[in-house]
Amino acid sequence: MGGLVLRRCRLPGRDDPTDLVLDGGRIASIGGPAPPGAETIDAAGRLATPGLVEAHIHLDKALLTERVAAAETVEDASRLTGEAKRRFTVDDIRARARRVLDLAIAAGTTAMRTHVEVDPIVGLAGLEAILPLREEYAPALDLQVCAFAQEGILQAPGTEALLRRALARGADLVGGCPYNDTDAGKHIDLVFELATAFDVDVDFHVDFADEPRHLHVRRIVERTRRAGWGGRVAVGHLTELAALPPAEQDEIIRGLAEAGIGVISLPATDLYLSGRRDAVNPRRGLTPIRRLLAAGVPVALATNNVRNPFTTVGTADLAHMAFLAAVAAHMGTPAQLRQLVDAITIHPARLLRLPDYGLAPGARADLVLWECERLEDVVAAQPGRALVVKDGRVTVQWDRRARARWREPRGIL
Ligand SMILES: [Zn+2]
Repeated sequence: MGGLVLRRCRLPGRDDPTDLVLDGGRIASIGGPAPPGAETIDAAGRLATPGLVEAHIHLDKALLTERVAAAETVEDASRLTGEAKRRFTVDDIRARARRVLDLAIAAGTTAMRTHVEVDPIVGLAGLEAILPLREEYAPALDLQVCAFAQEGILQAPGTEALLRRALARGADLVGGCPYNDTDAGKHIDLVFELATAFDVDVDFHVDFADEPRHLHVRRIVERTRRAGWGGRVAVGHLTELAALPPAEQDEIIRGLAEAGIGVISLPATDLYLSGRRDAVNPRRGLTPIRRLLAAGVPVALATNNVRNPFTTVGTADLAHMAFLAAVAAHMGTPAQLRQLVDAITIHPARLLRLPDYGLAPGARADLVLWECERLEDVVAAQPGRALVVKDGRVTVQWDRRARARWREPRGIL
């Protein structure tokens, strides 16, 4: 491997284009000499960012809209997907997962955490389908697999044993869904017991409603502290937080910051399913992203569902999630747009505990070259990706050019 030099890249926070020198899967230097025999690509002033990081997606239940009806509420979506799940096979799950992985990689994603449902309906079929993809896709993407109890643990007997088997077979972490169980407190405790027994990270789907009727996050904060699991816990949705009076929001947010818990906002699903019972001025139902960021809580924006009853649209392009957050969370200034880029790069990398992430010498050479120059345009202009690089090698090269034939003499046929 002779290295790769991306000439004349624009890097976030620097005005003048510079050369990114990649060698041995790492960033060897910024503006330094090229290693002998290195390939050179002219970036021509395009922006480079670290690779996009998908913190929360469901590969196993993606791309179901051709076989399942759309839902009106979270409960409907769970029921409809649960019924479809009875007919999942390993091959079917794997084929749909591959399609979504390919979309994500082409959009610049170089690391991903996927939830894989483990329960008495589907057993370990999801895990069996997805685990081999970790290796298959390793040249293009780091895949983390979360054994996820979507159907509850106490109300779905057998799930705890299945989660143990999933972790023993190589799932990277454990995921819970306390709002979908008969005893949310015990559910949370069981997930932490598994996490500490197997020494794995934790990821909860939590407090996903228009009104603050669960607030299970409080127990998660307390259990994270007690287990000493700071930096190893993420919570997704957390939309109920936005429904609390500001002082109560701040109290919970302080708890999250002190306990070292990251938050994952899922704007496509949250906007799609929230406020469904509001006849007038339907609520947006997003967790308070600005408030969380201001308090120093890492916030990732993630895809969650791609074309299933929970969200019937989706492309697995994280730039779209940042765009949705810009409009729905009122984050449109240049500084806020740059914060939203952090929410699809730096923050999720921290939640996934990716080692040596970023655009510094010595970091892993995972990056995206964008068809734009300014960082805020990643969100504002939804530019194309020119190149995606993983471990110092080009994994995706886009060749896409529109020809304005209407401007050419006799150009329109
Ligand atoms: Zn989810």
